[in-house]
Amino acid sequence: MKPLIYLDHAATTAVRKEALDAMMPYFMEHYSNPSSMYQSAFEAKEKTEEARAAIASLIGASADEIYFTGGGSESDNWAIKGVAQLLREKGRHIITTAIEHHAVLHTCQWLSQQGYEVTYLPVDSYGMVSPESVEEAIRPDTILISVMYANNEIGTIEPIREIGAIARKYGIFFHTDAVQAFAHVPIHVGEEKIDLLSASAHKFGGPKGVGFLYIRSGILLEPLLHGGAQERGRRAGTTNVPGIVGMGTAAVLAAETMQERMRYESALRDAFVQRILSEIPDVKRNGHPEQCLPGIANFCFSSVEGESVLLLLDLHGICASSGSACASGSEDPSHVLLAAGVSRELARGSVRFSLSQDNTKEEMDFVIDCLKDILSSLREISHQTGPSEKEETRWE
Ligand SMILES: *Cc1c(COP(=O)(O)O)cnc(C)c1O
Repeated sequence: MKPLIYLDHAATTAVRKEALDAMMPYFMEHYSNPSSMYQSAFEAKEKTEEARAAIASLIGASADEIYFTGGGSESDNWAIKGVAQLLREKGRHIITTAIEHHAVLHTCQWLSQQGYEVTYLPVDSYGMVSPESVEEAIRPDTILISVMYANNEIGTIEPIREIGAIARKYGIFFHTDAVQAFAHVPIHVGEEKIDLLSASAHKFGGPKGVGFLYIRSGILLEPLLHGGAQERGRRAGTTNVPGIVGMGTAAVLAAETMQERMRYESALRDAFVQRILSEIPDVKRNGHPEQCLPGIANFCFSSVEGESVLLLLDLHGICASSGSACASGSEDPSHVLLAAGVSRELARGSVRFSLSQDNTKEEMDFVIDCLKDILSSLREISHQTGPSEKEETRWE
């Protein structure tokens, strides 16, 4: 197999060596259940509490506001269903956006079958929500505003501080899905007036299947999982000690290197974007040019299918994605690009590259060489066969 050029870090990341090393002792040596009553259990408990305190301090929270979960999807489900349950007597209206991750969108869709009403705010062509539109959507029965911190497909960072201020002014809970943002850009839940925040370890060098939900103290969110008294009675299930230790280590490491990584990744990404825009014809860059995660570059290439580009990139050992990993396999073009006003036809030709500190300029140059070849051969085929059935959907 060719050496892999991994450009799909928004889908998942490798576990960092430091995180794996920290996890290892908790599988076979210190495997005690931290809820038990003996010395080795106390030690395991202490280790998870260290991780909780470390994570809390990274977002300006206190340790007792951090609840460990089974990942980003669970945190999103818990935040939204928990508030819906808690405030069902106050109201049944939820405000979110059209570009959320499916963990938020499908949860809201499920709630609308349970008698809740959901407003999906539009975004501009950069995928940005306007704080004014949030304020205008507020009604007396609004119980929750859920706006993602940064989008997983196009990288746009939303105006969280402004939305947080509006939510606080009206006394409405504000949840943000920060799965792409936590440990990648600085976050302060107090300054940004965030009430609930979701994060997931595998997006920042930790293991899969573990994450956390920040719940501002004083919010008595209903549990999602009932059972044992773990997580102060709010989230049942035997504590995932290795996962939590790995997540804590990865978070601390990511925070220590954040500024340096942001500089490195955005410089590498900007040079990559620049070359693609100037050397490949008929390409559109998606996402905000400045308010964007450092490692994400999303493009639409006209007259091609993103999936075909991916298959050919894969033959060169290059891993990228079209839209989000969670949506791949489905025929529909990205809901994020459609919401940003991209035509269905052009949205089909989208490819997302998400890079990290581990990628190099040599890799990016190789990707551009491959992309040029791939696009010219795919476009040649598409021009020979004339407009495809799909292109007719323009007139739908
Ligand atoms: C990956 C992702 C999720 C889901 O997180 P999991 O830990 O994989 O469940 C949710 N929201 C966003 C924005 C994501 O990128």
